Amino acid sequence: MDKRPIAARVGEPGQNPGQADFCARNALSRMAALGIPPTPPNFLVWYGYFSNQPPALKKAVDALIERGRGIDAVATEEIHSQFFGQKAEASEAIAASEAVDVLLARLMERVSVQARGAEAYGGALADAESALRGGEIGSIVARLVEETRRMADLNRDMQAHLRAAGSEIDVLRQNLGEAREQAETDELTGIANRKRFDMALRQAIVRATDERESLTLVMADIDHFKRFNDTHGHQVGDQVLRLVARTVADSVRNGDLPARYGGEEFAVILPRTTLHAARPIAERIRTTLAARKFVRRDTREVIGSITISIGAALYRPGETPMALISRADSALYTAKRQGRNRLVIDGETAA
Ligand code: GH3
Ligand code: MG
Ligand code: MG
Repeated sequence: MDKRPIAARVGEPGQNPGQADFCARNALSRMAALGIPPTPPNFLVWYGYFSNQPPALKKAVDALIERGRGIDAVATEEIHSQFFGQKAEASEAIAASEAVDVLLARLMERVSVQARGAEAYGGALADAESALRGGEIGSIVARLVEETRRMADLNRDMQAHLRAAGSEIDVLRQNLGEAREQAETDELTGIANRKRFDMALRQAIVRATDERESLTLVMADIDHFKRFNDTHGHQVGDQVLRLVARTVADSVRNGDLPARYGGEEFAVILPRTTLHAARPIAERIRTTLAARKFVRRDTREVIGSITISIGAALYRPGETPMALISRADSALYTAKRQGRNRLVIDGETAA
């Protein structure tokens, strides 16, 4: 049995706090300690931090702390937009964030009920103390037992609330994650869309700069695709786009990001990769595609092969994402000019 005074045990965060209790309590108290307003987005960040979900969020916050940058409301907002950002565009995400609002309001209400209970309990103890001096032992003990029971009930209630809120938040986070995934995926090809590409490129540049690593960007464009569409129709063209996307995605490594950059243009971000290492990857994309005999799905008619032209450029420290894209794009343009179905690497284009 716990020998500590009742008052010392009652206010504890639960004898066997569930994971959700733990995360929600810690999130609220850390935000209070740092003076961060307990808004739904902030709560989402700090709940995520304590539940280690997603793990990259915790890492990002810890990295900020390590670098000696204080975590304030602004930093929390940055983390929020990094991990849960742009969600306002997806309607599921709006619903989810409203639900977090309601959840948080309920949670805060529970917290204040709890606080009032603790105050009342403190008052009862103070009364008991002065009555003890007066010697009414029997009634004092009865009062204390009753107050303690009430306090324990309140604690149990609070725990149940926190646990329920925690699992609701988990569901909401999952919904948000799915909505975000959907908002960043190209519908036709199923690979990353331009929005995800832009974000990933910014992150890759930050990383390459921080870690002094190489970063290569590859841009590819289907050759004579307008003619292809004119000859075979837009739907067959769409089929080709899916095939090209799959070929690009299958040719890159884990950690690379293949994306549909625009209509019939694709891009691959290759972190920690020099031009020397990027060359065989880009060549693999090009040759795999050129070797494929394309067959119309409806008529089984063999259409022939599809080729792409590719440009690659190595990130130069300090340059903007736009500048890097534009160098890869000019290498691609050179590949087109030199006859298509080829790879041109930026800096090797003098000839
Ligand atoms: P180049 O070799 O110089 O790249 O010639 P191109 O014909 O591929 O280039 P151009 O930019 O003139 O034409 C691009 C074509 O890509 C025109 C457009 O119809 C087609 N395209 C863009 N997006 C889609 C799409 O989603 N589906 C289909 N089927 N075609 C698309
Ligand atoms: Mg094009
Ligand atoms: Mg083209």
